[in-house]
Amino acid sequence: MDEYRQELQSFVRERIAGRADEIEQRADFPRALFAALGARGFYERCIDLRKDGHRFIPLDLARYRVLIEELARSTCFSLALPVSVHVGLCLPLLARLGTATLREDMLPRALRGELVGAIAATESRAVSGADFVAMASRATITDRGIRLQGFKDYITSGMAADFLVTFVPWRDPAHFTDICALVVPTAQPGVRRTPVPMSVFRSAGIAHFDFDGVELDRTALLGRQHFGMSYFLEHMLVARLDAGIWAVAVGQEALLLMQRYAQSRQVGDGTLWGESAVQLRFAEAATRLELLRGLVDSTIRAAEETGRIDPVAATAIKAATPGCAGAVLEETLHLLGARGLETRRPLLRMLAELRSFGLAGGSTEVMLRVLAELWPARRSGDAQEGIYPEWRA
Ligand SMILES: Cc1cc2nc3c(=O)[nH]c(=O)nc-3n(C[C@H](O)[C@H](O)[C@H](O)COP(=O)(O)OP(=O)(O)OC[C@H]3O[C@@H](n4cnc5c(N)ncnc54)[C@H](O)[C@@H]3O)c2cc1C
Repeated sequence: MDEYRQELQSFVRERIAGRADEIEQRADFPRALFAALGARGFYERCIDLRKDGHRFIPLDLARYRVLIEELARSTCFSLALPVSVHVGLCLPLLARLGTATLREDMLPRALRGELVGAIAATESRAVSGADFVAMASRATITDRGIRLQGFKDYITSGMAADFLVTFVPWRDPAHFTDICALVVPTAQPGVRRTPVPMSVFRSAGIAHFDFDGVELDRTALLGRQHFGMSYFLEHMLVARLDAGIWAVAVGQEALLLMQRYAQSRQVGDGTLWGESAVQLRFAEAATRLELLRGLVDSTIRAAEETGRIDPVAATAIKAATPGCAGAVLEETLHLLGARGLETRRPLLRMLAELRSFGLAGGSTEVMLRVLAELWPARRSGDAQEGIYPEWRA
């Protein structure tokens, strides 16, 4: 593991350090960096291709964590986000559920970073992006093939993607079991993409897609036709965990910067660090970050042992991330005074981008609703219901 991290750190030092903000401002997908990471084997080493592996999702989470941590620390978020979608979601979906054709043709090139994958789930034009059953897109599936009609919105890496993994209902009216998962090459006739100029993740190639009578072979189906929604929910747990990994890595750097600055800053006879109010605020931010770090650590450890990601823990991580990351970065910005707002320190940009984790991959409200549903069932195993009258409803 250390070797993987060291190799990655030297890649980041050579190719990204000191250039992250320039890459972000260019609003141009960092394809060369994306491909170089793949060519050096950083993606392949995160994917567990053994058929007899015990992992439900074929991802080596501990190694994947290192990949996301180092890219997040580089502050080049428009590279980190596409890599997390490609390696955390697209590659495991292809490796686990792809037909032989997809696994033999597309997967090896995607592992080497020659192909860019994206996840296309959201439809946000008329209804809430979280309302899957209200999706307007349709896949008509027959013995001869699949015809895709509809649209998808705010797709990370969309402008650079060579293929999409999309989730689409295949009959009316749609129910959870009527959603399938499809692999759609973006070069296919009928696929049209439009860039969305964003004020966050400016170089992540976020795009809207339109599908107008896109014809696909049946080999485009991932897994079983009825199970698309289950696949989505299982695999999106990685994205929820991701948010926490990312926030903890960036938050640690921010806290250390805050401390170094406060220790070096003269105030009267002492330093800013000597002010108890400053230490208190620092410690409050550190406490929030430690709680999140503890949950991320234990969730990854448990997933490594059981092969499954705990949905309650992953959802709690996603729900807690925007608030925790926001609080840490806001404190850092505030304490650094005017220096925090210099362009060489992209704290304000990172604050906005980490806050947008409250939307990307599902809004915080949606996470909280899921938690309210899942949490009571999980606790019932060791709760002492009925024994102590004090706790009866
Ligand atoms: C940076 C970024 C990257 C993204 N990348 C992708 C991608 O790669 N693939 C993809 O498919 N999608 C992607 N998305 C889209 C993202 O998943 C949606 O933005 C998200 O699901 C929310 O949908 P929406 O934007 O339509 O907002 P809405 O669903 O309209 O929500 C707006 C607000 O309404 C409130 N709200 C919504 N639902 C509820 C509820 N049930 N209860 C209470 N309040 C609620 C919340 O406050 C929410 O913030 C990305 C978005 C962003 C910002």
